[in-house]
Amino acid sequence: MSSYAQRPWLAHYGDLPADVEAEHGTVLDLFRAAVSRAPEAAAIRYFDGELTVAEVDAASDALAVALQDNGFRQGDRLGVYVQNDPAFVIAVVAAWKAGGAAVVINPMNKARELTYLLADSGATALLCLDELHDSVAREVLASGATRVSTVITCSAQDWRPGAAPRAGGEALDMLGIVERNAGREPVAEPPSPDDVAVLTYTSGTTGEPKGAMNTHAVIAFNAQAFRDWMGLTPADSVLGVAPLFHITGLVGHFALSLLVPCPLVLTHRFQPEVVLEAIRRHRPTFTIGAITAFIALAAVDGVSPADFRSFRLVYSGGAPVPPAVNQRFLERTGHYVHNAYGLTETTSITHLVPPGARAPVDPTSGALSIGLPIFNTVARILDDEDAEVPVGQVGEIAISGPQVVPGYWGKPEATAAALPNGELRTGDVGFMDADGWFYVVDRKKDLINAAGYKVWPREVEDVLYEHPAVLEAAVVGAPDPYRGETVEAFVALKPGASATTDDLLAHCRNQLAAYKYPRRIELLPELPKTSTGKILRRALRDR
Ligand code: AMP
Repeated sequence: MSSYAQRPWLAHYGDLPADVEAEHGTVLDLFRAAVSRAPEAAAIRYFDGELTVAEVDAASDALAVALQDNGFRQGDRLGVYVQNDPAFVIAVVAAWKAGGAAVVINPMNKARELTYLLADSGATALLCLDELHDSVAREVLASGATRVSTVITCSAQDWRPGAAPRAGGEALDMLGIVERNAGREPVAEPPSPDDVAVLTYTSGTTGEPKGAMNTHAVIAFNAQAFRDWMGLTPADSVLGVAPLFHITGLVGHFALSLLVPCPLVLTHRFQPEVVLEAIRRHRPTFTIGAITAFIALAAVDGVSPADFRSFRLVYSGGAPVPPAVNQRFLERTGHYVHNAYGLTETTSITHLVPPGARAPVDPTSGALSIGLPIFNTVARILDDEDAEVPVGQVGEIAISGPQVVPGYWGKPEATAAALPNGELRTGDVGFMDADGWFYVVDRKKDLINAAGYKVWPREVEDVLYEHPAVLEAAVVGAPDPYRGETVEAFVALKPGASATTDDLLAHCRNQLAAYKYPRRIELLPELPKTSTGKILRRALRDR
């Protein structure tokens, strides 16, 4: 038996079982169990308001009925284009109740990105925030490039005390729908564990955005893994610092709070002062988010360890945790940030640092360990020929387990490439030490990781190439003291063409979500290339 199959990491599990039985078949079952258990319990705490489990149940029934009245059928997809609002929770549950799935969309996305996601997923209905409807979605829907025929809008003020339905315009108003359809129940086939529950878009190890098929089974399993690993109970409360559209928030906030069940604290967007206010008001006990969120929270004027006293556990996922930053957070708040690792394709976590444990640091790279593979999960380190490398040697991390998605929506070739025999090739380069701790030291993929926000060079390059003056463009990640990495572009102009870096930047800002446009553009007479004419990104990165 190989060393990875023996799972040496189990030696550090303490009281945790090696494996757990999956309790729930679908995420909708989880929610229904919460409804039967304690309908009057708080499901969501939002600024000064609160929604009970029964209220989320009633609102999602009403929304599901409205979707069906407007032609939403079994297996259809609802685009969800909102911030961390109660509307997100209600809409995703409503999509399941109406017999379909949700496509969760980053509200920073601009028209070009939204068009792609709606068209690729084949969504027929869209829920979006008012302001996103006006600034982005209206134009996309008018273009006819998508199949969306039903548009429902909502506001960040909805679900706060005193909120009332607004007068109808060209789109349906969510609060109005909930009021009109109160008491009606949708009729649909209940989902099966292997049905897609949510499509989460990622570029995987290549440049093209793809919808990872997060089925009911994979989400329910990883929500359970979070709960059991952290020992969460209904007395806990989850603070939503990660965006709900991203897999970390989707599973580590939303699905987890449905399963435990326990209240989910939401603040529309991440603004450190507002989140701190929510912490003081609602006293959450658990959270997971990008390390930069914790740095920002600890830097708010007047913050003290007393503010963080309600927390039992704080986890960071999605990007490396610099050991020095962790130390500073500990000093400022009294909390150690536990590292967590995973991908969209693994429905968030595959590795965690056990609660209360301290992650070892790799003396060579200085990297903090990403932790141990969680329940029922096997991680292997492979060389370029797909053979396991000996313990301590560096290779690509490959993962199999009940949280790994079955593939990408409508992309069998990309699925076969990323998931041979159902084992995910992560594109992350790392190793396992003799004690079974894992480390990420590099990446095979070209991904730029700006504080957990993933940017794919090709997508930014495509936008640059659309500028009439651009001959060649290459985008790389440049080191950044706060975000880890930031986006940098190198451009060569066509002979005789003229454009300033400001022109190019304005062009990118128009087309791309704010976290994607280059923070620096450098004009070069020509870009370095291999003998076969391929642009040498690495040479540019090393400049
Ligand atoms: P996403 O699909 O957006 O969740 O991005 C997954 C990628 O984020 C992984 O393949 C890693 O490159 C990176 N990542 C996630 N968690 C960590 C971590 N704890 N340390 C270093 N990189 C991480």
